[in-house]
Amino acid sequence: MAHCDLYSGAVIAVGSMHDKHVAIGKPFAVRLGAELVVPSGLDTDCFGTFTGEVERYGNMLDAARAKAELAIEKSGLAYGLGSEGTFGSHPYLPDASADTELLVFVDRSRDLFIRDVLITRRTNYGWFPARPGGDWSAALRQLGFPSHGVVVTPNAQIGRFEPIKGLRDPTDLQFAIEAAARRSFDGEARVTSDMRAHMNPTRMAAIRTLAHRLAIRIQSICKVCGAPGFGLADLARGLPCAVCKAPTPDAVAEIHRCALCKFELIVPFRTRRTAAPSCRCRHCRPPDTP
Ligand SMILES: [Zn+2]
Ligand SMILES: [Zn+2]
Repeated sequence: MAHCDLYSGAVIAVGSMHDKHVAIGKPFAVRLGAELVVPSGLDTDCFGTFTGEVERYGNMLDAARAKAELAIEKSGLAYGLGSEGTFGSHPYLPDASADTELLVFVDRSRDLFIRDVLITRRTNYGWFPARPGGDWSAALRQLGFPSHGVVVTPNAQIGRFEPIKGLRDPTDLQFAIEAAARRSFDGEARVTSDMRAHMNPTRMAAIRTLAHRLAIRIQSICKVCGAPGFGLADLARGLPCAVCKAPTPDAVAEIHRCALCKFELIVPFRTRRTAAPSCRCRHCRPPDTP
């Protein structure tokens, strides 16, 4: 794919209150020659908070795009970036935790919308119940405390309680646990990882990796219409079963697509030619397998 310098010297508005521009800035400067600014008076918490006081605006993509659009409105610039993360069970490995990060770039001048996703198992996402006076050092270590912040709420809330966020000091944490436990039916507080980027170096690193990936995608030009943002968009399913040759749900090729004209390039996997019949083929696998 051809590379572009369309954004060399461009100023891009970032729709983030939580220092994400620090993670995104270097990849965008090095790869694209672009500069990031955070517009003043930005309140992205209106699109949802991790601690649940504000429900998320639409799905992940809606929320990230809305942040980019808000940054464009507030700054009057032509370009915006928005990011969104979710944490919980890994989509393919139910026993593992995962951080799913989405980063979107909006170019108003070309009516373009370019996005990329990163799913990583490297996350400190988790929580534990804490009774005042207990020893939580092992559980806190698992959450990455104190280099990573934590949030304290009642474990079983009585009435209203404003989550105490961004805790990185052991004494502050102790007071917060006592306060939250008093407002809980079971007398326990709940200590949760603070997933806001500025409180979470692990998440910040994931956003940085994703920013590199998105910058590379932005550099990649569609050979049909010349728009930036050509790249992997989907997987084609139907890898043939090794025994009966019937199509299976396994991926057979990558689909690369233009962000503007939708031109597609199918890139077949060279190393995988057939799927395992025992687990992937609905004709060959034993009937009691899930
Ligand atoms: Zn088969
Ligand atoms: Zn195109």
